[in-house]
Amino acid sequence: MDIIRLRGIGVSPGIGMGEVSISERVIFTSRREAIAAGQVDDELKRLQRAIERTKGELVRIKTDIKDKMGEEHAIIFEAHLLILEDPSLLSGLEKVISEDKVRSEWALSRTNARYEKVFEAINDEYFKQRKSDISDVLAKIYRNLERKKEKKEVPDRLKVLVAHELLPSEAAVSLSRKNILAVALDVGGQTSHTAILARSLGIPAVVGLHNITLQVKNGDFIIVDGTDGEVIITPPQAVRREFMGKKEKYEKYRKDLQKTARLESKTLDGVPFVPMANIELPEEVNIARSYGAEGVGLFRSEFIYLQRTTLPTEEDHLAIYSRLAREAYPAPVYIRTIDIGGEKTLPQLKIEKEPNPALGLRAIRFSLRNGDLFRTQLRAILKASVKGNLRILIPMVTEIEEITEVKMLLEEVKDDLRRRKERFDERIPLGTMIEVPAAAAMADHLLKEVDYLSIGTNDLIQYYLAVDRSNEFVSYLYKPLHPAVLRLIRSVIQAAVKAGKEVTVCGEMAADPLSALVLFGFGLRKFSMNPIFIPRIKKALRSIELETVEKAVAEAMGFRSSQEIEEFMIEKILIKHPKVFLMSQSS
Ligand code: PEP
Ligand code: MG
Repeated sequence: MDIIRLRGIGVSPGIGMGEVSISERVIFTSRREAIAAGQVDDELKRLQRAIERTKGELVRIKTDIKDKMGEEHAIIFEAHLLILEDPSLLSGLEKVISEDKVRSEWALSRTNARYEKVFEAINDEYFKQRKSDISDVLAKIYRNLERKKEKKEVPDRLKVLVAHELLPSEAAVSLSRKNILAVALDVGGQTSHTAILARSLGIPAVVGLHNITLQVKNGDFIIVDGTDGEVIITPPQAVRREFMGKKEKYEKYRKDLQKTARLESKTLDGVPFVPMANIELPEEVNIARSYGAEGVGLFRSEFIYLQRTTLPTEEDHLAIYSRLAREAYPAPVYIRTIDIGGEKTLPQLKIEKEPNPALGLRAIRFSLRNGDLFRTQLRAILKASVKGNLRILIPMVTEIEEITEVKMLLEEVKDDLRRRKERFDERIPLGTMIEVPAAAAMADHLLKEVDYLSIGTNDLIQYYLAVDRSNEFVSYLYKPLHPAVLRLIRSVIQAAVKAGKEVTVCGEMAADPLSALVLFGFGLRKFSMNPIFIPRIKKALRSIELETVEKAVAEAMGFRSSQEIEEFMIEKILIKHPKVFLMSQSS
């Protein structure tokens, strides 16, 4: 058989190889089966029975997963139970059955297609992924219309799981059974549940392979390289041997990194630094801790809107923030108020389409225009703050007046809580993201108004260099080490240090060892990133002394291009500290 190599997105590093087991998915019917008016009541009862069975099934899986994998993984099923109880979803299904006089199968199929369309129109990978939660619940109801047992998706022997899409509950059930060597999917992105779960369980995974399900059959031999995002179908012996070697190296590296996660966050000469995690789901807190995170440096709260079809209530917000505060305690959690609007439009919010979304009504601009939503979020954060480890973080600030307005609103909400004798952290720190270059230039003034800064380099670089962060045609210009970017970031860090206030970098730049060293050389001590990268950053910083970095960085700032800076830094650091750059290839 011919060898086939496919490229996808590596979402969980490592290499897994073995026989393929294809997971069948629920195919929603494309047949609109009509019923007579007199049958509607029976059909509604049939749907209701399927929903009840689904509920029972979800409660059972939730308990099972909680026992096997811990609370944080069971939360997916709590979210699914909430979806299942969502009145708008259920009344929508019932309406299709009774008004169109059709079978439940068709009602589920239509509803699923409708959600798919809505979510597909959202140009944001993370938001699109949330569609699968709803599909997952609908598919379960669909299966339960027939009294069929849920299909056992997982092979008994060790196999590589290949599927079109693993719905969140399937992912939890399948991956928890300990007989999956690796996962390869047609669809999916970095922030899908499968990706998060696979990473936390250490199962190599590649997603976004488009049509791998059409290219393999059960029993084929396959290699999944989750580090480089590659899948190789029916490789010859020589390729198998090559990847066995790579697998062994990676496993050694991983063990080494796991040890690093438990070591102190200090440089060779004892200068402390703080690695923290960027997360989107509350269940990631424990995973983050296992990677060595000392707090949640960025909680992207917009995810809360994605787990439901209606607007989240104050109680919904409160439950999530309280959980975050409790699970991270005593470490801090920086809750970034919602960053939606622009591209990240949501069905329940009826956001206007804008001609230039990246420069439009997003983040704090959106929140200030939708005061009620914003107050609800602030109240919930305050109510959850009693333990004293929550922080409020405002995204996309452009001018000082926005902070003044936020502070007024915050005071208003605090006053109301005081009147109601509700407890909250009176001194809850308020910070601003530095993502708009204008805010970076005004850092010294902003610092008089807020308790801390958090530099969001993902957006800051895109706005400063005028390069769309997700446009592959201009990605060659997206350079975190561009001297202009470095000057700007250095000025912000220095302003914070001078003001004696805290500053964090929470963009992807903090996760790159070379960039992290440069930031450290500027005086940065707090780094927040996707938890998976924490060990390598810890390892890099633990392998060096402050003085070496400061000297190298000071000299590097004399260069005029990112390439020169990069080459110079690598040369300077490598000579003295080769360990800094020991990545997956070695160690
Ligand atoms: C950033 O812009 O750097 C950031 C952390 O925010 P997000 O990636 O959510 O836009
Ligand atoms: Mg941002």
